[in-house]
Amino acid sequence: MNLNDSERIAGVLEARNMTQTDDLDEADVVVFNTCCIRENADNKFYGQLSRLKPLKASRPGLQIAVGGCLAQKDRAEIIARAPYVDVVFGTHNLGRVADLLDQALAQGTSVVEVLDAVEDGGEPIFSTPVVRESQHSSWVTIQVGCNNSCAFCIVPQVRGGEISRPIDEIGREVQGLAKSGVSEITLLGQNVNSYGRDITRRSPLFSNLLEQVSNIDGIRRVRFTSPHPKDFRVDTARAMADLGPVCEHLHLPLQSGSDSVLAAMRRGYSARKFLEKVTMARASIDDLAITTDIIVGFPGETDADFEATLQVASEVGFDGAFTFIFSPRPGTRAFDMVGDFVDPDVVSERFERLKVVIDRSALQRHQARVGRLEEVLVDGVSKKDQSKLSGRTRQNKLVHISFNGFEEELIGRYAQVAIDSAAPHFLRGTLVSLEPPQRARRSLPVLVG
Ligand code: SF4
Repeated sequence: MNLNDSERIAGVLEARNMTQTDDLDEADVVVFNTCCIRENADNKFYGQLSRLKPLKASRPGLQIAVGGCLAQKDRAEIIARAPYVDVVFGTHNLGRVADLLDQALAQGTSVVEVLDAVEDGGEPIFSTPVVRESQHSSWVTIQVGCNNSCAFCIVPQVRGGEISRPIDEIGREVQGLAKSGVSEITLLGQNVNSYGRDITRRSPLFSNLLEQVSNIDGIRRVRFTSPHPKDFRVDTARAMADLGPVCEHLHLPLQSGSDSVLAAMRRGYSARKFLEKVTMARASIDDLAITTDIIVGFPGETDADFEATLQVASEVGFDGAFTFIFSPRPGTRAFDMVGDFVDPDVVSERFERLKVVIDRSALQRHQARVGRLEEVLVDGVSKKDQSKLSGRTRQNKLVHISFNGFEEELIGRYAQVAIDSAAPHFLRGTLVSLEPPQRARRSLPVLVG
């Protein structure tokens, strides 16, 4: 979501004739798009912001803008800590960042404009210009905010309640993307399975959306992130199985395998229910990859609770996981459970043990793909080895590809790749054949909506 927001901020600024630079000395405007989901991200941001202070002192014309979740959370506090910041804007009004920079310039003082979707009646601006990093793959926001109240999570407070984007507006964006040569889209929302429930109680709506975007000419792969396990139902699994473009990858955040921890987290499902959803998904969808998120060291997590998490992780045999050490966020329920915080040494040890279990199942599942021919959408030069390309399979497996030829001709194309070897976090393969390039009918950037 944050990456997509950054592309939209870039789009809004480019529409005002600005160009992007990686060189700070060259920049007239510096924009921070912040995240506050973990404490580390907060600290990093304030550290980087303070490093700009001498630059701003030497070049007063330089404008600094701060947006994103932390701006939603800290608002005027950012100006109090760093008075040299020109603009603070929120997630729901990022489309106004250029206007706010102009306003700050005209009035000669800092401007703070952060909307709370519900309190301020601030409708999120979904349709903005976008500068996309990739010409073949694109994020598509379908919903902002979240109506859940997971005890560890600050998202509902900073991004507000769920607001779904109208289905026809999403369709128009995806049609525009397909015309510009994008063939892979990822639908984005905090809880995609509840997409549309704020528009109508009629369900199933998310599976309708999957069908609509799958039918758009030129769209060959549809991904989505993230579904909530309690809301992941059979209609979505069926849509994944029946709709050719919807990829065989499900990111289903477990968070914990202990029922008492799940209850304290207010996740709304038990370990057994989670396992039932996994069984249902695997029974419905052939060759499905399942990844997850797991938090280690939630307040009150006992050894037995943690063992239950290891047990569920082993039983599922995840293809991969984002594992996190619990990070207390002020304003969340878990933050107030300070008396139950787990000893950091114990948490570190559990974290390492969990990684072993996840890496073991990921490696097993990846090894099972060695010797197969996989369809890979080539993304670019491999970050691991510049002599190779990298791309993703339908199961979202990262593949480092050996190839002959010119890399520029391969990027953005679908390739058949023979998988040679496997590691826990990627596959290695050799290019066997290439499909003709997708036809681009329009150049980027794309005006959305
Ligand atoms: Fe946060 Fe829970 Fe909503 Fe996900 S579902 S954004 S973890 S409150």
